[in-house]
Amino acid sequence: MTETIPQARTAGDADITKPGATSGGLLVLAPLRFEARAVRRGLREASSRVQRTGMGATRAIKVAEEKYQDTFGTLIVMGTAAGLSDDLSPGDLVVGTEVSDGITTVPLPGADLLAAELRRAGFSARAGKIATVPKMIKSSERTRLAGEGYLAADMESAMLLGAANGRPAAVIRAVSDAGFGPGMVRGGLAALRSLRRAAPLAERWAAACAERTVLLAGPRSFCAGVERAIEIVERALELRGAPVYVRKQIVHNTRVVSDLEQRGAVFVDELDEVPDGATVVFSAHGVSPAVRAAAADRGLSVIDATCPLVSKVHAEARRFAREGYTVALIGHAGHEEVEGTLGEAPDSTVLVQTPADVAALTPADPSKVAYLMQTTLAVDEAADVAGALRERFPQMRAPGSDDICYATTNRQAAVHAVAAEADLVLVAGSKNSSNSVRLVERSQRAGTPAYLIDGASDIELSWLSGVSVVGLTAGASAPPAVVSEIITALSGLGAVTVTERVTTTESVQFGLPREVRR
Ligand code: SF4
Repeated sequence: MTETIPQARTAGDADITKPGATSGGLLVLAPLRFEARAVRRGLREASSRVQRTGMGATRAIKVAEEKYQDTFGTLIVMGTAAGLSDDLSPGDLVVGTEVSDGITTVPLPGADLLAAELRRAGFSARAGKIATVPKMIKSSERTRLAGEGYLAADMESAMLLGAANGRPAAVIRAVSDAGFGPGMVRGGLAALRSLRRAAPLAERWAAACAERTVLLAGPRSFCAGVERAIEIVERALELRGAPVYVRKQIVHNTRVVSDLEQRGAVFVDELDEVPDGATVVFSAHGVSPAVRAAAADRGLSVIDATCPLVSKVHAEARRFAREGYTVALIGHAGHEEVEGTLGEAPDSTVLVQTPADVAALTPADPSKVAYLMQTTLAVDEAADVAGALRERFPQMRAPGSDDICYATTNRQAAVHAVAAEADLVLVAGSKNSSNSVRLVERSQRAGTPAYLIDGASDIELSWLSGVSVVGLTAGASAPPAVVSEIITALSGLGAVTVTERVTTTESVQFGLPREVRR
């Protein structure tokens, strides 16, 4: 599958051949002399230019027409603006997600990346809608625009963006106004200081702009166990009403957790935080028998969202322990799934994380050793530890089928295929998601730089400099919408061609527990 997502285009530019996305350097259009001077003082690159455009729509349209076929590669409009939100202060920066003059709206999908880069550099910066208005606005107009979700108002940006002609474009406005009076001068100075300090980051944004190919790894994102766990919480909320308590994160993803929190789920670390008689959901990672017993003692109404593939490992641990085996559990210390599995047969199970741990093993009977694995390990690393175990204990028993689950295996194979062709790999997922972290490591072992990101705003612009092919995947707990959000954000830096590399297709589905069946 191949699809091209063009850079945001402005009205009337479709029939003009545009220059290479980044050839020609950065052009900054700044309406007022003070604004242009502040930006000029902050710029570092010889290829960057600043042009003062003059105030208001008429001058802005004239400059946009003049610059339409100029040789610059990227465009940023920088200047001061009226802040429309009470929580904005003079000197704060607003990066336009879209700019509208009430007739034409120009979307700027890379705004989140630029705003996040400014925040990482210490600015108070937000991405949001900017209104271009014909004249200085009064308080009633401010209230109306704020009500429509605009963060700032200026008098030129919508028209100046007409110069972009399909090239990457952005708008950074520094909030200046605190009403008329002495505060107005102080606010203006704060805004000019911010514009000067932000200028090098505008150049960093320009350096990250390029036309790119995004190679999507397939499969990626939600697995059957995660879909089931999320659906269990959603149905529990629907059938039993909020609040529904969930022990630990239902799956290791901040977006999923905050979405469910907004709908009435309450995430707790331990059962003593759950009120008597309440409903509690056990997460997809599973729990130990001790936790089940504690919930029963408390009379809690339990709905178990443990992934069936994790339950299978628990059952194997119980079976091997019953048969008198020492169980070597290959996994990561402290992970919730590992704690749950260790709890099934604590006297018979030993955690081994590395081949060195294998050398230190002292089983009661070396002829009765079995191994199990955490479901979300790196396939190749787990094989190394299993190999060391087999060498030391040749009679060792193995699980009936692979413990590393199909979703983990498939996502690792898919990211490996994409990493071989990419300059950079982005993995959507949260830091505590084991299978997402493994995807980053797998790419890095293939020799391709890789980063774990919760969303588009975690992308650092320096990662993209010189990168023309971006590999993109998502861990089994990361929502598909995050992948779309990342592609959209990248398209704000230049046209993006999206191609999918599918190494296998998945059709696994798990049934729901009876408590939430309709
Ligand atoms: S990653 Fe594997 S074990 Fe974990 S929830 Fe998904 S299918 Fe189940």
